[in-house]
Amino acid sequence: MKVFLSKAIRVNGNDWKLACDSTNSQHYPLVFYSHAHSDHIPRKLPKTDIITSPITKILLKNFVSNFDDGNFFDSYSIDDVTFKQKSSGHIVGSTALKIESSEGKLVYTGDVSIRDKGFLEPFSPEKCDILIIESTFGSPDYVFPSYDSVIKEAQEQISHYLDNNIPVVLMGYALGKAQMLYNAFSHLSENIIMHGANFKINSLLLAEKIKGAITAMDYTEAKESNFLEQTSKWILFTPLKSGRDFFFSYLKKKYNAKLFAFSGWALSTSYKFRMSVDHSYPISDHADYNELLEICKKSNPNQIYTIYGHTTRFAAELIKHGFNAIPLSKQTLLDSFF
Ligand SMILES: [Zn+2]
Repeated sequence: MKVFLSKAIRVNGNDWKLACDSTNSQHYPLVFYSHAHSDHIPRKLPKTDIITSPITKILLKNFVSNFDDGNFFDSYSIDDVTFKQKSSGHIVGSTALKIESSEGKLVYTGDVSIRDKGFLEPFSPEKCDILIIESTFGSPDYVFPSYDSVIKEAQEQISHYLDNNIPVVLMGYALGKAQMLYNAFSHLSENIIMHGANFKINSLLLAEKIKGAITAMDYTEAKESNFLEQTSKWILFTPLKSGRDFFFSYLKKKYNAKLFAFSGWALSTSYKFRMSVDHSYPISDHADYNELLEICKKSNPNQIYTIYGHTTRFAAELIKHGFNAIPLSKQTLLDSFF
């Protein structure tokens, strides 16, 4: 199997070709979409066979303009070659792809996490010959504290405010991080409100009975019915933005609300000040450096390709640990095969 980058991550076998997480709509014989984050899907689907999970298919229906053009498959085969998905533990519906043939076994992680966050099946690494792995946090600078300890600390802070009649605003990306936050914090208040993309995506997931969605009131409805004034014990979930943003400044001034930001980048002590929020917590839907290394060790492949984020740094670290690792770039095909 040959792995290279040419407008998309490409894997070519003896007599088959696959493109992974292509954001362009050009024709490929076969495409795999690991999850529905916008940097992994196109705006228009290519007219071709598509391997993706049933949940990502539902999300694609809402995110692309030509959904009917796709031919969707949960698993796929071409002669003796099989393409199978398994949970990548990143966001709702996210999967890794496992390709097995007489040429060997390849695993493409997409975005990945091996932490158990209570509502998603974590990625479980398995022995393979070739591993294509994300490296968003692929530097030793990024090692997250335990998920449970961070959640506990945030829960205590949130409860403290609510007990003192101070409402809280919990900010996290509407698809992925938000479901993690709902799972961890929504039980702390009876008054759960969502704003903008959070309400929209949650409603979509709720209608499809997808795990991770919860019952919530739309912010617009809460505002129009004066619900926000009737009680101060509310939690508002919103997309992650700067606390200087007009909407958040308004919430602080009008309701004395406290702002919480949740991001892997909150490991940096300056993050809270950069985002102008009251509290920030380092939780992520990606694996941290140690977890990426653990995936590589358990997969024990002959060849690793690093993609997304700190590709060069992570490949260099992997080489130090005795792996054959190459950052996937336009140069990779040239370096690897000629
Ligand atoms: Zn993602």
